[in-house]
Amino acid sequence: MFSAVIQYEGTLYRPPSEADSLILQATIGCSYNRCTFCAMYREKRFRVRPMEELVQEIAWARQHLGDVRKVFLADGDALVAKTRFLSELLGHLGEAFPDLRRVSAYASPQSIEIRTDAELRQLREEGLTQLYLGVESGDDQVLTWLDKGVDAEDMIRLGRKASAAGMKLSTMILLGAGNRERSLEHARESARVINGIQPRFVSTLVMTPVEGTPLMDSANAGEVDELTPIELARELREFIEHLNLESSIFRSNHASNTLALKGVFPKDREALLEVLDEVLEHPDRAPFIPNWLRAL
Ligand code: SF4
Repeated sequence: MFSAVIQYEGTLYRPPSEADSLILQATIGCSYNRCTFCAMYREKRFRVRPMEELVQEIAWARQHLGDVRKVFLADGDALVAKTRFLSELLGHLGEAFPDLRRVSAYASPQSIEIRTDAELRQLREEGLTQLYLGVESGDDQVLTWLDKGVDAEDMIRLGRKASAAGMKLSTMILLGAGNRERSLEHARESARVINGIQPRFVSTLVMTPVEGTPLMDSANAGEVDELTPIELARELREFIEHLNLESSIFRSNHASNTLALKGVFPKDREALLEVLDEVLEHPDRAPFIPNWLRAL
C-alpha cells in the first residue's frame, strides 16, 4: 500500500543546489541542535524515521515523479543515523531509481566524527556522494560563540575525513559571524580552514539573527553587530584573498547574501577580487541586493 503523498514534518530546509531534488526526511530535526544562530530545528525533537514510512514514500515518488536523479536526505544531520539504516535506505533508493546520480545530506561535524572511515567509504560507495558541512568560521573564538561544538582544527580534520572517503563536500561560511571586531580575522581564519579542507564547493551566507535563537537574545542585548553591505564586502574580499584552492566552485547565492557572486577556483580568484575592489571603491554603483529581496 502506497502512502497518499510524502508527509513532511514541520518546515523543510534544503541547500539552494537541491532545488530540483526529491527531499526525503530520513531524520527529523538535528541531533546537535545547539548552534546559537540556527533556528531551523529548534521545535523538533531529533529522531530517525521508521524505514517502513520511507519505503512507502520512495514507492510513491517512483510512481508519481518517475525518474528521480537527485535525492536530498533531510533534516539537519541525517548522517548521524546508524550506518545500517542509511545503507538500507540507499539500497531502496537505488532499486527504485535506476538513474539516480546523487544522494546528499547535511552533515554536522559531530555526525562526521561518529562515522568511521570505513563507514563513510561504504556509504559513499552505496550512493551517498555529497555532504553539506556548515563550517561557519575558522576562528576559534567565533566557533565557541556560535557553539559549534568543535574548533578550527577539528573542522579541518573532519572535512578531510569526509573528503578522504570520497564524499564531495559543500562547505558554508557565515559572513558577519565575527561581528565588527573580528570581521577580518574571521575571514582569514575561515579561509585557512577552507584551504585545509579543499572542499569541492564553498559558499557564503550572511549571519542573520532569527527569533527564538540565542543569537537573537544576544542581538536584543546589543551584542551583535549588523554589518553593512560594504563591511560584508570587505570581509568577503579578505576571505577570497586568502583562499588558496586547487579546484573548488565558489557561490554566494544563498538568499541571505548582499552580493551574488560565483566563480571557479583558482581560475576566477583574481576576477572575484576585482569585482569586490570595484564594489569597495564605488559602493554607490555596487549591485547590492536590497534587504526586501533577501530572505532574512
Ligand atoms: S548542526 Fe547545523 S542544523 Fe544542527 S543546529 Fe547546527 S547549524 Fe543547525
